[in-house]
Amino acid sequence: MAKVRFAPSPTGYLHIGGARTCLFSWLYARKTKGKFVLRIEDTDLERSKKEYLQEILESIKWLGMDWDDIYYQAQRFDIYRDYAQKLIDDDKAYRKDGAVFFKYDFSTIELDDAIRGKIIFNELPKDEEVIIKSDNSPTYNFSCVIDDALMGIDYVIRGEDHISNTPKQILMYKALGFDLPRFAHAPLILSPDGGRMSKRYGATSIREYREMGYLPEAIVNYLLFLGWSPKDDKEILTTKEAIDLFDIIDVNKTSAAFSMDKLKWVNGEYMKQKSPKQLCALIRESLSETEFIPKEVDDILLEKIIVLLGERIITLRDFKELAYFCFYDDYQYSEDASKILANNLTKEINCLIDSLAKIENYEAEIVEREFRGCADNLGVKVRVLVHPTRVALTGQTKGPGLFESMVLLGKDRVEARLKRLIDYWKEVEE
Ligand code: GLU
Repeated sequence: MAKVRFAPSPTGYLHIGGARTCLFSWLYARKTKGKFVLRIEDTDLERSKKEYLQEILESIKWLGMDWDDIYYQAQRFDIYRDYAQKLIDDDKAYRKDGAVFFKYDFSTIELDDAIRGKIIFNELPKDEEVIIKSDNSPTYNFSCVIDDALMGIDYVIRGEDHISNTPKQILMYKALGFDLPRFAHAPLILSPDGGRMSKRYGATSIREYREMGYLPEAIVNYLLFLGWSPKDDKEILTTKEAIDLFDIIDVNKTSAAFSMDKLKWVNGEYMKQKSPKQLCALIRESLSETEFIPKEVDDILLEKIIVLLGERIITLRDFKELAYFCFYDDYQYSEDASKILANNLTKEINCLIDSLAKIENYEAEIVEREFRGCADNLGVKVRVLVHPTRVALTGQTKGPGLFESMVLLGKDRVEARLKRLIDYWKEVEE
């Protein structure tokens, strides 16, 4: 039973690296049937913002994680001051220019990191360490040590950018007479070129991925595998499986590069697991502020469109582009359609319009039969008609099943769109 914490500073949105640290910590706590604590490190009163805090908590919840306790460091300044006083009384700290400094003699420090193994520190960057600033707020290293000790944290799991802070923290534990926790420093998430993951390579906050239409399960699965993998070749794990299989000591030492393509693939896998009904609700929610889905479109129709588009919908937001032709007529013919459009088939499409006009029950099988019959009568291959018809009906050269799309659009709209293509050819000729 391990007590583990995630300690975000609300000075920005939840970063994908932070989300992964949170995930490793949460999984470990749940695996050991221990406790998971959130500690909001809001000691920087100027840079900490309520809006960031809200977003961090929402993103953690949205990703499917929960916490047993939450603490706010801004409410604990008295505790840090008392411990600073204790160090002053023990001659392990001193006051200067309003601030309190930690006094320490440095000798070699050895850290047995659960992920990285033994790390030896032979020197520290500075010989003076502020623990309480002149505005009475504690510095990160000091409040972190006191809280990890008082909260009974067994395992400090965090990004490897904090390795350099660890020897100072170890000295503080010792000076304060606290037992040391275990440390696990996870490698950072790198950008595809090997540098630190930054905006240049795509979104960095969980919030942005949510807005881009990614599913929380897919993000969790992706982030988990970016630094850890189960012993078999499985690439998709349920949360329960992840809790069973995960162990912090199995996290890779080396950093992994972020790959948008891989994330998309994982998202697609999770999308496939959803029923049309579930996707309908998720797509509505994801697009709610965009007013993309016309008010009169009910769930029955929306589900039909979702079924029609099928596995082409990789993210919830993809729906917008893919389904545009289902709701709106004002699309342009895509650029890659130019070759198809260059072939003026006015006579053939007019013939198709006449054949389709005869249909009474506008069902996929019947439409297909008429369509093929028309091609036969014209003495052309079916695909000769399929390509321009698809461009006429959707604006695109690729898309879902043509006959099913025609049924969904309905007889009148199909006819109008085919006529629009004929008008287009007329205009081009003129
Ligand atoms: N507030 C620190 C951060 O966001 C926490 C580091 C730690 O986990 O000790 O990086």
